[in-house]
Amino acid sequence: MTKSLPTIQHLINGQLVSGGSRSADVFNPATGQVEKQVLLADKLTVEQAIASAQAAFPAWRNTPPLKRARVMSKLKELLEQHADELCALITAEHGKVLSDAFGELQRGIENVEYASYAPELLKGEHSKNVGPAIDSWSEFQALGVTAGITPFNFPAMVPLWMWPLAVACGNTFVLKPSERDPSSTLRVAELALQAGLPPGVLNVVHGDKEAVDTLLQDPRVKAVSFVGSTPIAEYIYSEGCKHGKRVQALGGAKNHAVLMPDADIGNAVNALMGAAFGSCGERCMAIPLVVAVGDDTAEAVIAGLKTEIAKMKVGPGSDASSDMGPLVTRTHFEKVTAYVNQGVKEGATLLVDGRGVQVAGHAAGYFMGPCLFDNVKPGMTIYQEEIFGPVLGVVRVKSLQDAMDLIDAHEYGNGTCIFTRDGEAARYFTDNIQVGMVGVNVPLPVPVAYHSFGGWKRSLFGDLHAYGPDAVRFYTKRKTITQRWPSAGVREGTVFSFPSSR
Ligand code: NAD
Repeated sequence: MTKSLPTIQHLINGQLVSGGSRSADVFNPATGQVEKQVLLADKLTVEQAIASAQAAFPAWRNTPPLKRARVMSKLKELLEQHADELCALITAEHGKVLSDAFGELQRGIENVEYASYAPELLKGEHSKNVGPAIDSWSEFQALGVTAGITPFNFPAMVPLWMWPLAVACGNTFVLKPSERDPSSTLRVAELALQAGLPPGVLNVVHGDKEAVDTLLQDPRVKAVSFVGSTPIAEYIYSEGCKHGKRVQALGGAKNHAVLMPDADIGNAVNALMGAAFGSCGERCMAIPLVVAVGDDTAEAVIAGLKTEIAKMKVGPGSDASSDMGPLVTRTHFEKVTAYVNQGVKEGATLLVDGRGVQVAGHAAGYFMGPCLFDNVKPGMTIYQEEIFGPVLGVVRVKSLQDAMDLIDAHEYGNGTCIFTRDGEAARYFTDNIQVGMVGVNVPLPVPVAYHSFGGWKRSLFGDLHAYGPDAVRFYTKRKTITQRWPSAGVREGTVFSFPSSR
């Protein structure tokens, strides 16, 4: 461990603290240099965070929802004021271009804004006179200590999908961000303290499997939200359920865009460029596959994509003229390169090769240029697996039904979209496709904060989607109260039959 580097600490009970004897390097992907060290929490440290959340729960649960909501309103203001600082942290550790970091932060802020509607969201349901002088209502009570485990690709937004609504609903929270780019996540948590969140309501522990397993196994943790890759999501779901927790685990993706012959090809090309190469393809809603209906459609989209790719500038995310930054780590860079090699080996046609791209002054950065394949086919590794890099493949089919059959046969079902001007085709597609989030001429159909986010098939384990109305249900338990106040002096007879409205 290099002594002179800054160390990223845990945030427990409102204090930055050490904990755990291990640490990991945090790199700047544009330079390949280690810039910081992040502590990796051991079991004891995570247990301290859980204890802090447990201690903070009774008072926070009893804090009126309007007061909890006001903390969220204040946090929204602070996030807006600190946007430059937060986005610089995101870009320095993730690599994405600054404009993209602003986009993710804004989407995160919208979740904070939604959490500030807590009094409205928690109003419950009431029925008068369900029986003679009997009223009944359902209320939504906080669970207790809840936890979140988040991926590297949205270090500000994905944590904000989780904890603001969880705490606005009266829970306390332990967050385990990605160890690859933890600084912006931690800074947001510090701003939450500044906004008035009491110590212990939100705790942040950095770490790896040891920290995650402690959260999954500790009986004080009542619910776990996870976003990351599918193998880990599946593990989190089964391990968390085994320990009696409520779990929502969002996993990986392989999103197909269907391009119909009648589509506005120019607009579709522009949309596909951002969806495939934005954030260097490191988005779970990225489009790595275009399914072109008919060879003419395929030729037209390829011609358009080649023209646009030739104009793209790859460079550091901090340079406002860059369209695409580096991949997140050297390991990931090598993995994406291996996928491109494999695509060539398996017979796909590599039309644009982004391997070996050089960025002046950044020889050690993890840069890869955009790659475009034609003739990608089901069964090929680059068709089946999530690459999570700037690699777009064109798949040629003969009909919309062929395209839909392909999508439905794929193991993932996170997002998809159709480009068309035919309302009937669009309606058939949205009605029948086996995918959780669907766009019509919208390449990244990421739901807004007042809907909920989630895929189908092996892109989500659990029943309730992330953020929005589903998350209000996820972070609360329903209690239904039935109440009768008989009039004084009225003697009620004994009834042995099951109470009913007969
Ligand atoms: P990842 O699965 O490697 O890591 C996610 C989290 O799990 C991190 O906090 C990490 O520390 C932890 N983790 C890693 N290995 C673990 C293990 N063996 N045991 C316990 N915890 C472990 O994912 P990533 O590389 O950080 O993120 C990219 C992945 O996330 C992609 O697959 C992407 O599709 C997915 N993702 C999905 C969504 C969605 O909403 N469906 C959103 C963003 C990212």
